[in-house]
Amino acid sequence: MNILFASTKEKGEFWFPLLKKHLPDDRFFEWPDNNGGDIDIALVATHPKGALGGLNKLKLIQSLWMGVENIVNDPDLPKGVPVARLIDPGMVAAMTETVIAYVIDWHRHFWCYREFQKQRVWKRRKQYLASDRTVGILGLGELGGTIGPKLAALGFNVCGWSRTPKKIGGIDCSTTLEEVISRSDALVCLLPLTGKTRGILNSKTLSLIRKNGCLINVARGGHVVVPDLIALLDSGHLAQAYLDVFEPEPLPADSPIWAHPKITLTPHIAALTEPRTSAGKVAQNIECIRRGAKPPNLVDFAAGY
Ligand code: NAP
Repeated sequence: MNILFASTKEKGEFWFPLLKKHLPDDRFFEWPDNNGGDIDIALVATHPKGALGGLNKLKLIQSLWMGVENIVNDPDLPKGVPVARLIDPGMVAAMTETVIAYVIDWHRHFWCYREFQKQRVWKRRKQYLASDRTVGILGLGELGGTIGPKLAALGFNVCGWSRTPKKIGGIDCSTTLEEVISRSDALVCLLPLTGKTRGILNSKTLSLIRKNGCLINVARGGHVVVPDLIALLDSGHLAQAYLDVFEPEPLPADSPIWAHPKITLTPHIAALTEPRTSAGKVAQNIECIRRGAKPPNLVDFAAGY
């Protein structure tokens, strides 16, 4: 099969040796070389504009990222071609570490002690136990559904929200969006960005987080209405926000987010695609197509993820 690699973020040089180990008989091309349009499989992650146009033999679009909004919203997307999400164990592990680090940073007041150190202030804040805190998770899929039980194992109360009903050990999944947020001291967003979830974290919903709580957004920048978040940080309702994702990215140098004293920001690194753990998963999906089977984790276009 002819496999096209088209990405503005991922580097073919890291992927090709790993993919070729699993798929020794296939031929690989890197955009802009698309073999004259004769391509069976497109591997994409924030692909260059137009990269998916004119690929009339395409049998599968395989995302190299877990989020697929760039693919779903591409006007050049060939009709009827299945799109597979990437489920990368390395990425799930990385996101688990990031979310736990942020929850602990807030819960143990480390964000505050960094400020005290800058001011040479020796001061102790009240200690809380994990069991005093509730972490709410929006999105109980591959990421939220894995991270929730790990937070519960650390002693946190965990509740979560998803589109369809779920039963996950250690997580109270039986609540509405408003109930989850109202119970949350720390709110973690792990939703896909769709028409239904864009702007879901706004003044109405964010003000339901318990006082002195924090927001952890590691999903997509479009979930948060940033001026609403800043107003709640400035009013003292929220103690901290941990933001890994923005709209647009890179975050412009003049954005007020950079210098906000209550925002910890990272440049979309909460979980990077790990070619070492995902090349095998990508190859499994390609093998499904080769034998005429349906790969798992196909995007549901009606749901938008
Ligand atoms: P996933 O497996 O598709 O899970 C998404 C979860 O969100 C599911 O539980 C889903 O409900 C729920 N959901 C979707 N739409 C909803 C709605 N309208 N109302 C309520 N719940 C809704 O996705 P994932 O692999 O966990 O990844 C989540 C997101 O994380 C990705 O889309 C991506 O944007 C982001 N991400 C960020 C980074 C980073 O480095 N910052 C890295 C990887 C991923 P159901 O269970 O009912 O389907």
